[in-house]
Amino acid sequence: MNYTIALIRGDGIGPEIVGSAVRVLEKVGQKFGHTFTFRDYLMGGCAIDACGTPLPEETVQGCLASDSVLLGAVGGPKWDKNPAALRPEKGLLGIRAALGLYTNLRPAKLYPAFAEECPLRADIVAKGFDLLIVRELTGGIYFGERGRREGKFGPEAYDTEAYSVMEIERIARVAFETAKKRGGKLVSIDKANVLETSRLWRETMHRIGEEYPEVALSDMLVDNAAMQLVRCPSQFDVVVTSNMFGDILSDEASQITGSIGLLPSASLGDGTRGLYEPIHGSAPDIAGQDKANPIATILSAAMMLRYSFGLAAEADAIEAAVDRVLAAGLRTADILGTSNAKPLGCTAMTDAILAVL
Ligand code: NAD
Repeated sequence: MNYTIALIRGDGIGPEIVGSAVRVLEKVGQKFGHTFTFRDYLMGGCAIDACGTPLPEETVQGCLASDSVLLGAVGGPKWDKNPAALRPEKGLLGIRAALGLYTNLRPAKLYPAFAEECPLRADIVAKGFDLLIVRELTGGIYFGERGRREGKFGPEAYDTEAYSVMEIERIARVAFETAKKRGGKLVSIDKANVLETSRLWRETMHRIGEEYPEVALSDMLVDNAAMQLVRCPSQFDVVVTSNMFGDILSDEASQITGSIGLLPSASLGDGTRGLYEPIHGSAPDIAGQDKANPIATILSAAMMLRYSFGLAAEADAIEAAVDRVLAAGLRTADILGTSNAKPLGCTAMTDAILAVL
């Protein structure tokens, strides 16, 4: 198959880590008989410098014309004092909106090699975990009506949470489809004992669930979920939740892996095009020094193969290569932890992954 991938290398370590992922994709292409055509677009600080805007129209059009988008990271101290419209993050929000991305997928997996870095108790760590959070990205309280007014007790502020049936149905379908591609278990997280939006959420999840008899759906209240994530994370496979609950729970889930630097993410909309990026930032402190850890970006590319292109065996091959390299004790400086291994640079880590592939 032939696929066109838009590359947004961005700022800081972005060009280095995206370069590594491109090398891995090219190798997978050779091995499995696919052709990936890469097209480069500017976004973030580099776009502000070159075009006077964090998200040039050419980038939006290029991404819309591609099968999927791989992003490094944007931002850095050079643009920190810019006015809001000229900040690199403006590009991130803009591209998500332009591509109609309403779902965020955040996996959190415990690598046995990093068990010592995991902040949980040894008996919990021993069971391992490998879960995926499906977060609604464009609705709910972050986008609802808000303001200041005069209330019963004087001046007050308010934010409102609203979810339409359509918004819940579409995120439900993504979650069920995702659960089908993984272990077939879906936990929907809400606060249905208090919130009306959560009651609609729960009702809708169960109605859509009838279309997916192969997926086991259960509900959990968000306060319990926050507790269960640290008490017994191995019980989760796929989790689906609203924008705000997902924001909080996905950070909690990344933290318990003990290896935030390894975590990829995906944002999806209707259709198969997605935006894939590591969860870390542009690490300006180590940019251009060949010290960056490319793994989160390489795993983001694996997610692209799995979720946008339906290439599960190819994604498995990349993930297995990363597992093997980490299990063999190879480390970049950021994930040395208690290891006394000699840290590899970005190029050498990529070479090691390619060698296994
Ligand atoms: P950061 O994630 O960039 O860096 C935090 C620390 O982790 C730094 O010490 C950095 O060197 C290290 N680090 C991060 N990724 C690494 C990697 N792959 N390999 C080795 N070390 C790594 O977060 P920050 O310092 O808060 O932000 C730096 C810039 O990145 C800011 O301008 C911020 O706005 C931007 N940012 C961008 C995104 C994005 O593009 N999605 C996300 C978060 C932050």
